[in-house]
Amino acid sequence: MAMKGDMLYAWTNDAAIKEKAELGGAVTALWKFALESKAVDAVLVITKGADLYDAKPVLITDPKELAKTAGSLHCGTLLLPKYVKKFLDGAKNMKIGVTVKGCDTMGFIELARRKQINLDNITMIGVNCGGSVSPISARKMIADKFGVDPDKVHKEEIDKGQFIIEYEGGHKGISIDELEEAGYGRRSNCRRCKYKIPRQADLACGNWGVIGEKAGKATFVEVCSDKGAKLLEGAIKSGVLAAETANPKGLEIRAKVEGAMLKLGEKWRKKDFTALGAKMWETINKETSRCIKCYSCIENCPVCFTAAEALTKGSIMVKPGELPPNPMFHMRRFAHISDSCINCGQCEELCAMDIPLALFSHAIRVEGDTTFEPKLGKATYSN
Ligand code: FAD
Ligand code: SF4
Ligand code: SF4
Ligand code: SF4
Repeated sequence: MAMKGDMLYAWTNDAAIKEKAELGGAVTALWKFALESKAVDAVLVITKGADLYDAKPVLITDPKELAKTAGSLHCGTLLLPKYVKKFLDGAKNMKIGVTVKGCDTMGFIELARRKQINLDNITMIGVNCGGSVSPISARKMIADKFGVDPDKVHKEEIDKGQFIIEYEGGHKGISIDELEEAGYGRRSNCRRCKYKIPRQADLACGNWGVIGEKAGKATFVEVCSDKGAKLLEGAIKSGVLAAETANPKGLEIRAKVEGAMLKLGEKWRKKDFTALGAKMWETINKETSRCIKCYSCIENCPVCFTAAEALTKGSIMVKPGELPPNPMFHMRRFAHISDSCINCGQCEELCAMDIPLALFSHAIRVEGDTTFEPKLGKATYSN
């Protein structure tokens, strides 16, 4: 019987899923069982769009359609909670399964706190996340650092600290550290991220800790809730999934890798926040003066929507049609998210003027946490 706290290696028995899966195909097999058993009405997952750098969300109701959504897209930087709020009525009347990264998980929790999402109707299968790469930066990185035409690449992966590509003519890997020193690699918010194993999802899946003969063939699954345990057990009983207890040495390795990733996140925070330093507000003022008021940062932020109406309609200080907008446009937005920015990077990634907005809001939130958290107690997550 599966229980919260269990740590397992799992792999699918479904040939079509196995062929397309990143590792053991546990995530996709679990969704197949969830749809077939009607534990969920639909599954919201990420799949390849126009090319390898284009990740798109897709809502699946037919289990036969799931196999093609297996596999990891490291340029998949999009955040799913807002899709559920905007296009699926906040899951008010529909049970939805979602594959989530840490930032997606936090986005769901923040939207549920604001009563925009019905978490009771959401099942989350989490994937561990070392970071994602912006599609535009990935294309440039592959051309400049790998010397390969990005359109000739048919697979990318991140493994053992390397970004690896397979292309017409072979495969190449370069260490993430080297790429990041050169200004490429993971998004800047991902470098600072400290939510590597999404334990607030129902199940947390990844490759860290899979060793021995199962390495590369099985998914490491941590059971994080009773709902997750029920789903896992049902999938095993149905035959679509097989599992065994994780190797104790594998558990140790997984914990060590997680610890190393958290230290790396802390190192990047120090670096980024120190560079911003005492001149933070001056820098914010200077950078945001390039703003063309496209509203993308508001539209795509999972925690900022209460500010949206006030800022898009205009107010005494922020008049409609004024460019660049009065600094209060940005100050008001930062004030709204100052206690709850989850460092998901959407504002920065989608800013029409490439303003480093996530860096600013993350720095403001962390400063607030450092000042007030000892009085408030430990935060739910510390991203
Ligand atoms: P599959 O059955 O192949 O299913 C994969 C699921 O992930 C599908 O539902 C698919 O839609 C979804 N998906 C694909 N791309 C994205 C995306 N960008 N955002 C959200 N969902 C997506 N594991 C580690 O142990 N360490 C890591 O450092 C690590 N980094 C990762 C970084 C990213 C950006 C992603 C997406 C995953 C990462 N993983 C990491 C998880 C790992 O790659 C596998 O997803 C996991 O082990 C499950 O394998 P599987 O064969 O069971 O999944
Ligand atoms: Fe992954 Fe964190 Fe980046 Fe989200 S913010 S993609 S969880 S590293
Ligand atoms: Fe994400 Fe930016 Fe909103 Fe913070 S302010 S939660 S980084 S979109
Ligand atoms: Fe201004 Fe960038 Fe926000 Fe658009 S996304 S409103 S350009 S700060």
